[in-house]
Amino acid sequence: MNRLPKIQPPQPQSTDATKPVHITSDFAVGSSDVVLMAGPCSVENYAQTRAAAEAVARVGGRVLRGGAFKPRTSPDSFQGLGEQGLEILRDVADEFGLLVITEALAVEHVPLVARYADIIQLGSRNMQHYPLLWAVGELEKPVLLKRGFMSTIDEWLKAAEHISSRGNTNIILCERGIRTFETATRNTLDTNAIALAKQLSPYPVIADPSHATGRAALVLPAARAALAAGADGLLVEFHPDPAHALSDGQQSLPLSTLPHFVEEMGKITAVFNRTFT
Ligand code: PEP
Ligand code: MN
Repeated sequence: MNRLPKIQPPQPQSTDATKPVHITSDFAVGSSDVVLMAGPCSVENYAQTRAAAEAVARVGGRVLRGGAFKPRTSPDSFQGLGEQGLEILRDVADEFGLLVITEALAVEHVPLVARYADIIQLGSRNMQHYPLLWAVGELEKPVLLKRGFMSTIDEWLKAAEHISSRGNTNIILCERGIRTFETATRNTLDTNAIALAKQLSPYPVIADPSHATGRAALVLPAARAALAAGADGLLVEFHPDPAHALSDGQQSLPLSTLPHFVEEMGKITAVFNRTFT
């Protein structure tokens, strides 16, 4: 009996081998350890940032997040403390032995941010700001490249190539939600993108369930989904008092819930023989 040949759909070329990005000699993103990067959306003052650092350190976290230069939709919103914010971040991170991730918003900020940060974050709105990609590409400092909220996976990976083309291959990708027709949530977490970016690139991929959902009550379930899809880490907004946060309070989890969050993430990573710290 004649059988028609089976037609295979085209498969993406899978590298299936994430190359860990070493932040220090004893800490990498993209290994079997799934990493937590947590802290406030914005550095608002010393006490708020110190409280976040203390809470992150207490759960065994290694990386403190916080924005000093903030990309805000409205020019009337809090724009961040600038260099003073970087000083606060570095100070409290050093006190608790943490690493710092913070955003460089403009090319002229890159040398300054690189002095204070262990990982330079490039934000969603800047994913295709090529001069900024080239500027961080000239450094060796690890870069977290957030996906543009209206960018395809292909555009995101090409943006990473703009960085690597200048020599810096210490790149971590971050899926932070894309704009869809849905308005009930701030963005839509694209779990496909987490899995596909890991298959198509050598870079670790982490997820930001805070900006992906825009709702504190959805952060935990979205984080679970991201880890199930293979994310190598999470960038999550926590605040000592979300109701009074100067930015993104509606999606920030109270610091008091951090131990529970870490415990829940540990249950997911255990399924994949990975740890969560
Ligand atoms: C942030 O991490 O606070 C931020 C501004 O994120 P995004 O660039 O994803 O909007
Ligand atoms: Mn934010």
